[in-house]
Parts: sequence; C-alpha cells; structure tokens
Amino acid sequence: MKNIAIFGSTGSIGRQTLDIIENNPDKFKTYAISGNNNYKLIINQAKKFKPQYVVITNEKYYSEVKKELSATGIKILSGYNEILNLISDNAIDIVVMALVGYSGMLPTLKAVENNKTIALANKESLVVAGQIIMQKLKESNASLIPVDSEHSAIFQCLTGEDYNNIEKIYLTASGGPFRNYSWEQLSNVTRHQALQHPNWDMGGKITIDSATMFNKGLEMIEAKWLFNLAPSQIDVIVHPQSIIHSIVQFIDGSMKAQMGLPDMRTPIQYALTYPERIYSPFRRFSFLDYNRLDFEYPDYEVFKSLKIAIDVMNEGGNKPCILNAANEEAVYAFLNDKIKFTDIFIVVEEMLNMFDYKQVTDIQQLTDCNSLVRQKAKKFIEEKCK
Ligand code: NDP
Ligand code: MG
Repeated sequence: MKNIAIFGSTGSIGRQTLDIIENNPDKFKTYAISGNNNYKLIINQAKKFKPQYVVITNEKYYSEVKKELSATGIKILSGYNEILNLISDNAIDIVVMALVGYSGMLPTLKAVENNKTIALANKESLVVAGQIIMQKLKESNASLIPVDSEHSAIFQCLTGEDYNNIEKIYLTASGGPFRNYSWEQLSNVTRHQALQHPNWDMGGKITIDSATMFNKGLEMIEAKWLFNLAPSQIDVIVHPQSIIHSIVQFIDGSMKAQMGLPDMRTPIQYALTYPERIYSPFRRFSFLDYNRLDFEYPDYEVFKSLKIAIDVMNEGGNKPCILNAANEEAVYAFLNDKIKFTDIFIVVEEMLNMFDYKQVTDIQQLTDCNSLVRQKAKKFIEEKCK
C-alpha cells in the first residue's frame, strides 16, 4: 500500500490521479491533497478519500474548509508554505506534482531533497530550475517519474535501454486547435476557440500553451533535463491524432514509439506503479477507428514559440525562467481578455530581450528572476498591449 500526496488535487491531473486511486484501493491510499481556489471540490474530495491532510493554499477559504471538515478528524492546513512543510512527511511514499506553472517549482525541489518518488506532471519546475533539480536528484535517493504523456512515452521506450544509446527523440505534438493557421488568422482567435483542444481535456494554462505551442517548447526543455540530452537531439513532429505519444531513435537507427488513446490516466497510472504495470479499465485503441496516422513538421514561422524555446534551451541560465514567467503572465492576461492571442508571443519575446543572460547557481536567483519578469510583463501588458 502506497501513501500518495497529490499537490493540485483539484486540477485536471489531480482529479484523474484520484480516479486511479479509487480504482485501486488495495494499492494506493490518499494521504494528502491540496487545492487553491476550488474549495468546494477539495471539501468533496476530502470527504470521499479521507486523507490525513488537506491543504487549502488560498487562505481565504481556510475557515470554510475547516468548518465543513470539522467532524472528519482530517488535519486542515492553509497557505502555500504548508505544501513545502508537508512534503518532508516520512509517511508519504509518492508525491504527485500536479500544481500548475511556477508554483510547482519549489515543491518539486523540496520533494527531491526529501528523497521522494515524484510523479511529475508540473513541467514548469524543470523548465525553470532543471539544472538545480537534476543536480539535487543525482545527490539524493529521490526518483522523478514523468507524467507528461510525451515524456512518459520516452521513459517507457527507454526501459531496459542504455540512455547513452539514444540518438535523438521526437516529441509528438497535436498541433493544437490552430494547426495550419496563418499569423493573421492567429491574431483573431478568441479565448473560447483557444480553449478547445482537439484531443486532450486539460487545465486552462496548458490548453492555451498547447494552442500557442509554447507547451511543446516547454516540453523540449523538460525532455532535455529528464533524459540528459543535447538540444540537437530533440525534435518535434506534429501528429494530429495524438496516438503516438513520442518516439526514441537509437544509435543503430532503430526506433521505439509508445502509443495508445490520448488519456492522461495511462501515464499517471504508470508513474504510480512504475516499475510495474497493472490492469486499467480505460478504453483501448482500435486500429479500425484509425485507418491512417499523419505526421508533418511544425510551422516554425507562424509558431515562433518553438523557435523561441529552442533558442532559450540552447542559451540556458536564467533564460528558461524568463520564458516561463513571461509566458505565464501572458497566458493569464489572455485568459482574462486583456491581450490578443498573438500578444502572448510578443510579451515573451519582449521579456527575453529585456533581460540579459545570467548564469544560475542558486534557487534564490530564480525566485528573484521570476518575480521581476512577472512584474515587468504585467507592466508591459498594461502599457503596450490592446
Ligand atoms: P489545472 O489548472 O487543472 O490544475 C492546477 C492545480 O494547481 C489545481 O489544483 C489548482 O488549484 C492548483 N493551483 C493553481 N495555482 C496554484 C498556486 N499558485 N498555488 C497552489 N496551488 C495552485 O492544471 P493541470 O492539471 O492541467 O496541469 C497541472 C500540471 O500538469 C501543469 O504543469 C501542466 O503543464 C501539467 N500537465 C497537464 C496535463 C493535463 O492533461 N492536464 C498533461 C501534461 C502535463 P484550484 O483549481 O483549486 O485553484
Ligand atoms: Mg505533454
């Protein structure tokens, strides 16, 4: 029986993790859950799964959560720091890192420092602090199991393989809802259109990232750190059906791909049971439903997000942190109707030009960089956009 702590249990990945726990009560126990604004859902999750701890990071909802759960004996904690405090709890076997954006970075680092097995959905932690997190991982007994479908695919293809034999990897991308759009068409898309992903049902931030393709850029950086690759070993291929989740090409020219229907519960479950596989009741892929699978190269001119991310991946240092901070601010501004879709690219480019390259040696530099870039991005959005 494994004790699971899910940080971000009210989100898309968090809820699907609870589905898996519910399907496997003999294998997993929900030990701790966290939510930020969705206090009603976390109350329901707590009543159903009876964890030892509930963290409501937004302190505004503490009294409501406390009152509703008063008869349960569950310990209720409030504030972001309580996530960091809870991670060192010896009873936790697996940390599911399902927070969104920069908020996942310090908890991921803390989980590594506490030798946890981490099912990592939060790609932004590796984008911002990959160098530091991977260094700490080497010095610890922690393990990082990817949940992101492409990275889970690569991880599965690499089981039993020597990582030195990787020639390159192909991350597959659906291309999002605006595949084949021109820049003019992109500049007129609405929030509603951008939130309609063709194949995956995900949280708002990653859905917009998929539409801009910054998601694939962030995933290239995530892959670089997870699999210790040179940027030149990472390629992106658009595959609109999202059946092949990614591909590894080895030095002998042989390629391995991992495939299945697009359902995040598969990689989440694999991360929870690794190195074992267990039965899942999820729908199976049928060849009769797909008489062809398509592949094409992305349009790097329109989706400059990919070019920007490749440059940032090559530069390293503080640049990925700048990219991430600017993108987060821009995505939330777009979701709040403050900027146009194409302004997201402009905000990111502007911030990358405004801040010079710096080497990164400690986490404090990254926390400072994140706050400063977000401050400047907000100002730029207010003054220059729309
Ligand atoms: P959601 O937006 O659905 O969920 C995010 C979770 O984090 C929610 O529980 C939310 O709480 C909580 N949260 C948000 N902001 C904060 C904060 N500042 N402090 C503490 N908690 C916070 O995101 P997803 O589940 O879609 O994505 C989670 C991560 O997984 C992302 O990094 C994403 O890139 C990655 N991922 C997601 C996939 C998917 O299919 N969804 C696929 C691959 C990767 P509340 O809702 O209560 O406010
Ligand atoms: Mg992905």
